[in-house]
Amino acid sequence: MNEVLDPPDYHTRFVKEVKCRWCPTWFATKKDTDRIPACESCQERRSEAEDEWNNAASWEDLLNLNQRYLRNEIFASSSYTMPPDRETMLITPGLLRLHDYGIITIESQPELDYTEQSPWLGGGWHRWVQKPWMMFLIPTEHDLVEKEKVRLLANKLLEDGKLTVSVWSECDTYRHPKKNKGYDETNVAPRRTPLGNDEPLRDAMFHFRTTTVRIHNDDKKDDQANCNVVTRYKHEDSRSDLTDSPWINKTSLPYRNIDALNEPGTSLGCDGKAGDALKNMRPLAFCVAAKEWDAGLDLQKIVEDACIEVGMKPAFARAE
Ligand SMILES: [Zn+2]
Repeated sequence: MNEVLDPPDYHTRFVKEVKCRWCPTWFATKKDTDRIPACESCQERRSEAEDEWNNAASWEDLLNLNQRYLRNEIFASSSYTMPPDRETMLITPGLLRLHDYGIITIESQPELDYTEQSPWLGGGWHRWVQKPWMMFLIPTEHDLVEKEKVRLLANKLLEDGKLTVSVWSECDTYRHPKKNKGYDETNVAPRRTPLGNDEPLRDAMFHFRTTTVRIHNDDKKDDQANCNVVTRYKHEDSRSDLTDSPWINKTSLPYRNIDALNEPGTSLGCDGKAGDALKNMRPLAFCVAAKEWDAGLDLQKIVEDACIEVGMKPAFARAE
């Protein structure tokens, strides 16, 4: 039987007031129509920004758009249609500096460790801990970026014992290793040691290589899996109980293996919004994280210092 609703009832059921994610405006919307609500004028600016990404003609255009997104000047990134998280602001200066070397940062989280009264899980207290991690792209076909230096950068980061690192090409597809064969036995294998200098440069650069811990499944109870976990928390009714409370794993590093790489939704893939401007530069993708909890690492500075040490130049820095 159809239920006939009076207009006021209709409104409480199907219309709600939400706050725009970009500005302080509140507006009425139907439930669940937009997961990232934006008021009319912000929606307009968001689609303008998406057009700019679609029309980017060069790597410099992409760098510039990403910097403007990080500064909150445009309303979409290559993969996000919401503003940068508040926590991102903690590392924005470091992220922006990497762009001077031709690096486009895609995803990141800063190191965090805090205890607060829980706004979720029905109250109580929680302690929330994050390892810093970051994903970024470097072009390998750009006149201002030497391929050899990119290879050295990959080696340098993969050798750093304080980091967990994966390196791969965003524009290549990777076969899944044959069943019952270890990843190391195939030529698209994640490699645990840097490649030798005698191997052809191009091949060497575009292998999928990782120092993430290999586990057969990401069973969250598995101790080994903890190495790949980047966010965890504990929750109790009272603050004092937190000390002995067990950790609950929240998120693990993406891009741990070839399967994870082939999952849909890779953020700035060569088929994504940025199109040819990205694909033509055959970028190498990096996912870098601190290996230990509370290591106090400034990941952006570590990567910047590594760029300087291998001889990359801030050739994309512009006078502002
Ligand atoms: Zn708005």
